[in-house]
Amino acid sequence: MQPIYLDYAASAPLDRRVADAMGNAAQLTGNPSSIHAFGRAAREAIDLSRTRVARLFGAEAGSVTFTSGATEANALAVAGAWHAIRRACPQGALRILVSPFEHASAWETVQRLSKDEGAIVDVLPVGRDGVIRAEDVVAALTPETVIVSVMWANNVIGTLQPIAEIGRAVAVERGKRGVGGLPIVFHADAVQAVATQEVLPFAVGVDLLTFSGHKICGPKGVGALIRRVGVAVEPVIVGGGQEAGLRHGTENVAAIVGLGAAAEILAAERVSERQRFSEMRAAFMKALRACAPRAEIVGDPERSVPTTVFVRLPSRGGDHLMLTLDVAGIAVSAGSACDAGSRRGSRTLAAMFDGQRAMHGGVRVSFGRFTTFSELEECAKAIGKR
Ligand code: PMP
Repeated sequence: MQPIYLDYAASAPLDRRVADAMGNAAQLTGNPSSIHAFGRAAREAIDLSRTRVARLFGAEAGSVTFTSGATEANALAVAGAWHAIRRACPQGALRILVSPFEHASAWETVQRLSKDEGAIVDVLPVGRDGVIRAEDVVAALTPETVIVSVMWANNVIGTLQPIAEIGRAVAVERGKRGVGGLPIVFHADAVQAVATQEVLPFAVGVDLLTFSGHKICGPKGVGALIRRVGVAVEPVIVGGGQEAGLRHGTENVAAIVGLGAAAEILAAERVSERQRFSEMRAAFMKALRACAPRAEIVGDPERSVPTTVFVRLPSRGGDHLMLTLDVAGIAVSAGSACDAGSRRGSRTLAAMFDGQRAMHGGVRVSFGRFTTFSELEECAKAIGKR
């Protein structure tokens, strides 16, 4: 049997069309900051990508800052916004409101701001369905809250969060403060949402949005921050002034071109792909019910991206199930890849369940553009045999 790859949420395969675009861009000699013809050619390639990425998010090209991935984009969004606000408001307590299951890159940045810079961190509750409630956000907002960070779709179980409602709550709080009041910015990590959802940050009150190339069949090691114009962010690293002074360092031209190509393809194909993915998920869940009746789906499929299904087996812990599927040639994740190997387990499951149930875990089956119905059926059968 050919190996079956069902770990798109960790990293999706590179689309051949993207690889072709990157191959050409990798031949560009000039430094995009150089003003001669070679430099200008590289700059033009970056500018085209910026326009393509901006279009995917209903944004202006000037809102897009390319980074080395979503880890860096999250650090830039959260630490960058914090530093800008702290500089403008040097006195008084400032608070950050965050979901308990943010990706480590946002979560650990918040923890560091707490430890080193006195940020007070408020953590939102989450229900057993894996969804944050907008009412809880409203209740947790204080006059000192300056950053709210909630991911668009969860990276472990795929649940979609009520981003528009949270955006409205943040806008109401901003309105109460009035002109000249303490700023408040809403950051949403959309890494796991972009492949299947329409993500228009500025239409739903998101000020800072982050995403990554390798979750949309683009290259690894590139991503972007989409920033509402006027939202102040300080750079995390300093240097030669690239990316309008927000992300210094010579641009990874080939990767940025790849990101632009991936964004362009996604914009054209997402609606039809999404329909197919919903049908594939339905077929997978039907096969699971038939082959593995004791398997339980964690999270609410109605409120999740169609491409992530978190499966729990009472008889097998997540790590064990993942390893046995690996031996059978099927690649899935136990919890989230970012938690693998860190003895801490998944913060998402810990926030949703009591200790033992969370520790038991399950497997995340995630798929996308190149997955076939029969691969998902094979996976359901293999889970049924465990
Ligand atoms: N946020 C989420 C929700 C993710 O799933 C990931 C990737 N595991 C990241 C951020 C980090 O992205 P990158 O791999 O581009 O650093």
